[in-house]
Amino acid sequence: MTPQTDPRAGAAVKAADRAHVFHSWSAQDLIDPLAVAGAEGSYFWDYEGKRYLDLTSGLVYTNIGYQHPKVVAAIQEQAARLTTFAPAFAVESRSEAARLIAERTPGDLDKIFFTNGGADAVEHAIRMARLHTGRPKVLSAYRSYHGGTQQAVNLTGDPRRWPSDSGSAGVVRFWAPYLYRSRFYAETEEQECARALEHLETTIAFEGPATIAAIILETVPGTAGIMVPPPGYLAGVREICDKYGIVFVLDEVMAGFGRTGEWFAADLFGVVPDLMTFAKGVNSGYVPLGGVAISGAIAETFGKRAYPGGLTYSGHPLACAAAVATINVMAEEGVVENARNLGASVVEPGLRELAERHPSVGEVRGVGMFWALELVKNRETREPLVPYNASGEANAPMAAFAAAAKQAGVWPFVNMNRTHFVPPLNTGEAELKEGLAALDAALTAADAHTEG
Ligand code: PLP
Repeated sequence: MTPQTDPRAGAAVKAADRAHVFHSWSAQDLIDPLAVAGAEGSYFWDYEGKRYLDLTSGLVYTNIGYQHPKVVAAIQEQAARLTTFAPAFAVESRSEAARLIAERTPGDLDKIFFTNGGADAVEHAIRMARLHTGRPKVLSAYRSYHGGTQQAVNLTGDPRRWPSDSGSAGVVRFWAPYLYRSRFYAETEEQECARALEHLETTIAFEGPATIAAIILETVPGTAGIMVPPPGYLAGVREICDKYGIVFVLDEVMAGFGRTGEWFAADLFGVVPDLMTFAKGVNSGYVPLGGVAISGAIAETFGKRAYPGGLTYSGHPLACAAAVATINVMAEEGVVENARNLGASVVEPGLRELAERHPSVGEVRGVGMFWALELVKNRETREPLVPYNASGEANAPMAAFAAAAKQAGVWPFVNMNRTHFVPPLNTGEAELKEGLAALDAALTAADAHTEG
């Protein structure tokens, strides 16, 4: 790879960005986006020629890294042959993508409704669940992320995201497992699982089971902190859903397509939902694509009755060609196995070793290539390294961590008092070790802000 080094071009890109691009989730005057000149594999570089190992996979979506030549070629071929065609027609790349996805989804999730990304997949899954059951309410977990559109953001269990001008009609939130911060109620995973299931069933009893259309959960909550649920939790939720005729929706937008070392995180737990949302890794985000995988029973609801929903770009041929190529690359190159094997043999021991040496690391948790370090001021009290929703001076410890990581050549994922280790799934052993070494330096900067 040949990093382009033209600082003047970078300055022009940056100036136009600052003048005209309105960025997501940001105070526009307070941000300073890096101008990116190019990317390849697990790396990207700026116009000064500085190269970063991407520990974020973008927003946890470039599961096969940047610019994979086979996927780039497939997009080019599809663009030359049939760039676009409306969703009501059968198109080769669309039907082949649906077939490849349905082959990999668990159970009888065999019909695929395509969307443009994750949030609209969630919107449609909830619409399907409400129409299928004829019930209004949806239960979703605090400490979750389901997307930035109206319904999806209300389902998201993070008050920082809730728009102040809208309510959350029909959404009831509950507490899913999070042992590290549930310790006043539970000391073991078994106790935490029992606590969370009992709480969920009590919530359902008070809301009235016959009013609840769906329970939506991220199989492994991602943005909120990569809390791998304890054994038995998701199976328990499945049982509760069956007991009350509630549709079980698993959101695999982040956890799906190999992130956890399985094609879908549901496979880790042997659980089959009624609806499963996906996006991101389905085509490594090369062209926007998402969707809902639908069970036989729910598909049947819309067998003779029209499904009242659709999108102009549903199953866009270019995006689907990228999905077909990505899934084939993942299968041919053993990308899922790489995430599982190197996750277990390199990433987990590497992160645990860092935790032993750095007092700022409160907990290491994760699976596959899906890891979080929760940073704390004090390991005994578990006080977070920065307060909830900190900015400015209050966020200085995490800012120091991020600056040191970048200095050491990695781009870190930072959210509140956490950093996530979520590189592309085909990152090699030497690159992973390079990432761990850079984190070592960055954690030293975080340690300076602890009490230990
Ligand atoms: N659901 C989950 C679990 C996610 O992690 C995300 C995005 O991070 C979404 C939904 C929303 O996806 P999108 O940003 O493609 O709309």
